[in-house]
Amino acid sequence: MIQKREIYDALKKYFGYDEFRPLQYDIIKNIFAKNDSLVIMPTGGGKSICYQLPSTLLPGITIVISPLIALMKDQVDGLNANGITAAFLNSSQSQEDQAEVFHLAEKKELKILYIAPESLSMFDNFLKTLEVSLIAIDEAHCISAWGHDFRPAYTRLNFLKKAFPKAALIALTATADKATREDILKQLEIPNASKFISSFDRPNLSLEVRPANDRIKQIVKFIQQRPNQSGIIYCLSRKTTESIAEKLQNSGINAACYHAGIDHEKRADIQEKFIQDKIDIICATVAFGMGIDKSNVRWVIHYNLPKNVEGYYQEIGRAGRDGLDSETILFHSYGDVIQLQKFAKDSKNAEVQLSKIERMKQYADALSCRRKILLNYFGEHIIKDCGNCDVCKNPPTFFDGTILAQKILSGIMRLQEKEPLNVVIDFLKGSKNYHILEKNYQNLKTYGIISDIKWKDLQQYMIQLINLGFCEVAFHESNHIKVTPLGRNVLFQGTKVSLTSLQDFNKKKTKQVEVIVDSSEYAELYEILRTLRRTIADEKNIAPYLVFGDAALRDMQKKLPLNVTEFLEVSGVGQKKADTYGEIFISEIKKYVEENNIEIKKTTIEVATPKKERKKREKGGTYKTSYNLYEQGLSIEEIAKERKLAKTTILGHLLKMYEMGFELKISDFITDDEFAKVKKAVNEVKDPSGMKDFFIYLEEKISYDKIRVGLALLNRG
Ligand code: ADP
Ligand code: MG
Repeated sequence: MIQKREIYDALKKYFGYDEFRPLQYDIIKNIFAKNDSLVIMPTGGGKSICYQLPSTLLPGITIVISPLIALMKDQVDGLNANGITAAFLNSSQSQEDQAEVFHLAEKKELKILYIAPESLSMFDNFLKTLEVSLIAIDEAHCISAWGHDFRPAYTRLNFLKKAFPKAALIALTATADKATREDILKQLEIPNASKFISSFDRPNLSLEVRPANDRIKQIVKFIQQRPNQSGIIYCLSRKTTESIAEKLQNSGINAACYHAGIDHEKRADIQEKFIQDKIDIICATVAFGMGIDKSNVRWVIHYNLPKNVEGYYQEIGRAGRDGLDSETILFHSYGDVIQLQKFAKDSKNAEVQLSKIERMKQYADALSCRRKILLNYFGEHIIKDCGNCDVCKNPPTFFDGTILAQKILSGIMRLQEKEPLNVVIDFLKGSKNYHILEKNYQNLKTYGIISDIKWKDLQQYMIQLINLGFCEVAFHESNHIKVTPLGRNVLFQGTKVSLTSLQDFNKKKTKQVEVIVDSSEYAELYEILRTLRRTIADEKNIAPYLVFGDAALRDMQKKLPLNVTEFLEVSGVGQKKADTYGEIFISEIKKYVEENNIEIKKTTIEVATPKKERKKREKGGTYKTSYNLYEQGLSIEEIAKERKLAKTTILGHLLKMYEMGFELKISDFITDDEFAKVKKAVNEVKDPSGMKDFFIYLEEKISYDKIRVGLALLNRG
């Protein structure tokens, strides 16, 4: 019997983690009990460890079936970097490479072997010579013709259980629907497999939906605020991916496009460069991303509305696999909805597809917590609002829109319900364009009845009316807008209409592009470590994440390890990586600590406690150093210069000292008048925990730094 301690030791030794994520331990235990397992976990949930870890403790070899030939090399490199001997076999390899793999296996020097399903029969004889303890079938949804990535070779995998009756089998996927689940069990002939279905919640992903106005402009600004971050922009068409990539490149952004029309070699190259952080941004169709283990994708943008919620969730799931905060934005456009519905109508299972689009649209139109809606879709129910979606952060406000609705609906009637949305808007706004004049619409009643609302806003209000069912789009009649019976009630029975105020969104726009500053403590060290990682990766010609992931660097920034024992406590640092990179990283951290006079007081740990406790450190040293200089009469600029730190960092130090009870001469930082304004704003802004709302509320006239000072003043009371 395998001991719990052995499993935890392996987790630390090979992967550098102290804790399992939910279900991982149970799944691993199930494998050691020689049972079969079906694992459903969201993208980025941590499925790989469930079979990679047992392979290190089991006798013989673990075979992993994976459809992602292009990614096998990365996965194998990652395992080898962690000290687990692994290799792969597929049709793209040379005979010599294959012979090398056979040889290693023969010598029993392989723990994990990846094979593409299509290549299995080719290596039949070789496989029979192996002592196979575990068989993992990754991306197992490929087995189901119901699924979206059906691979015929997967349907022949049932022979595995017969060929290796002693091996446990584990099938893993992120696709949750029931039909696929049943199909997997049936086709693999593992009816008694234990099922592990984890929560689909990914709380580190923020959710945001924006109207699709000036998308490119919004995207460029978004990217410029986040230099050096990796991101993916998903588009519906190949052409769009190309044109966006080009526009981004023209703005000096390091972007490339990716779609199934690009030749194989070029695609592999783009993917590789993205994984290696040599291309920051990929504009792609949904052909991109399955199985990519790039843990530091910091954001995902949907340029177009996706066809269904499943796809959308998989795609945003590619952000933040390392568990660090990551952002997602979905651009919602009326045009996309029409386009998708048109495609769907002409397809075979039109009804199913249309209803999936409808669910996607409901999500995008939502006026309540978006995460609740998403998780609901996957059959999970959370009680509390998430606090990390745009609706939670900026709840909509409503107004009585009856009169506005009446004006719009009667305009539609005057046009005899024979014009599409844009013409209705032109008409209501009193436009004098060709189409209007040609049809003499300027002579009709209600022409120009809404002149005080901007075109784009009016469009949004009309979309709201469509979503609320007061009017509708006749898809088979050139998208003419028609008034529904419900809409007639508004016109003739006085039914009231409540609309969402658009000001909330418009107010959020700021003109300036400000780079979002990393305000975490020792942020400069993080940049130093990133550069070091880059240098090592370049020297070895490997992907930076194979050195360390962002999460590990963040943990170094937090824990400031100064010797190997401490270095091993960093999350994501296992034995092999500590041996390979420990010295060079530690010396860089030491240098930083010394140069910045950071005092680290370490509390001694009771040796008897079996659980490794995190050492607590006093961060007071660096604050005090800044404060002492301030007391000597230096300004923030001077202190920043002296300490080679950012001004905002110094301000942060001083405010921390202030909160601890040390004195600051407040008039150095903020005038009485400005303070009064910040104080007033506290009761007015929607989200008093976010600085941005203050900044906007104060009409961008009071700087972020001053707002910080004002809030610190209020905090101390
Ligand atoms: P997927 O479920 O999509 O296959 P992966 O297995 O690739 O996800 O894991 C996603 C990321 O989560 C990887 O970077 C992995 O190192 C990390 N991870 C997995 N398990 C843990 C854990 N117990 N603690 C911390 N990070 C983990
Ligand atoms: Mg995976």
